Amino acid sequence: AASVHPDDAIRATDDDAAVCRLSAAQLGYLADPYASLVYKLPRLAGGNMRKAPLINVGTHHRTAALDAVVDSFLKAARGKVQVVSLGAGSDTRFWRLAERGAPVARYVEVDFPHLTAMKAQRIARNRTLTAALASSSDPPSSMVPPSKAYTVSHGGAALTAANYALVPLDLRTSSLDELLPLLDTSLPTLLLAECVFCYMEESDSRAVIKWFGSTFPRSAAVIYEMVGLNDAFGRVMHRNLAQRNLSLPGAVFESLQAQADRFMDARLGDGAFTWSGAKSLWDVRGDLPKAELARISKLEILDEIEELRLVLSHYCVAWASKGEGMEGVRM
Ligand code: SAM
Repeated sequence: AASVHPDDAIRATDDDAAVCRLSAAQLGYLADPYASLVYKLPRLAGGNMRKAPLINVGTHHRTAALDAVVDSFLKAARGKVQVVSLGAGSDTRFWRLAERGAPVARYVEVDFPHLTAMKAQRIARNRTLTAALASSSDPPSSMVPPSKAYTVSHGGAALTAANYALVPLDLRTSSLDELLPLLDTSLPTLLLAECVFCYMEESDSRAVIKWFGSTFPRSAAVIYEMVGLNDAFGRVMHRNLAQRNLSLPGAVFESLQAQADRFMDARLGDGAFTWSGAKSLWDVRGDLPKAELARISKLEILDEIEELRLVLSHYCVAWASKGEGMEGVRM
């Protein structure tokens, strides 16, 4: 037991997120051919990745909500952008955007070194994944022989290409200035933190938001979080997580308004954002195109609508933006 690190439980949360994504992709909720390439099931799991219908529906809505904010950011930026994904884990969004030809000049993913090392290996070993990596932002020239588009460093924990980087660091203790050599502060830049801030103290996530808002004059942020955990549902949630040695120090935002307001906090100084908003996953469900809801309702039987409402009301997507032309970023 002496070898158990207190952060092991936090790092293991990526397994959950990745298995949810695999389950949803395999059952047809998500179109994500990359989920099974970026993440391999631990042998312990016995290959069973099928989650309950309610979880699959939640994963679908969560992904749809974040995709909608990302799309509105791309539209508002009208040109080249950057994305910085914090606590990216086994996320596949970079490849999904590359597949669409989205104008992402650089996509930077940050996580603990254990996680980035595993992801760097998966990428380096898979042709579909490396095919999205560019060695230069210049158009390819037939005069120059093709070469490997990326380099691996930091003992295998970092991977860098012209349009993508995987950076090992602890968001609580490292300065995000380490990312600056990889980024162009004049480009519209999106901060993405999907289910990450809840595992950090509020003061640490505030420092991240402040750094971001003061570094990129034209920027946007999108986060996925839990909300309103001071009720019976929240108590069960905290108890279940405690059994896995997990706590949620950052789950202190009780309302959707509070999640939106965290981006406008006076303590952020010049890092404060100008516009922000938030929606629960239950609200997100109400906004989904009818055809999409009808499509996923045929995948599995889900009859506990009250339970679905209860669960989805405790998860939210919040967004914020600042700078010229960025007010249109929203869900
Ligand atoms: N964003 C991914 C997704 O939604 O699929 C993964 C979400 S997972 C629930 C949380 C991730 O945040 C894990 O990969 C974990 O290692 C990372 N994380 C949490 N705290 C972190 C910190 N202080 N520094 C770096 N990464 C952190």
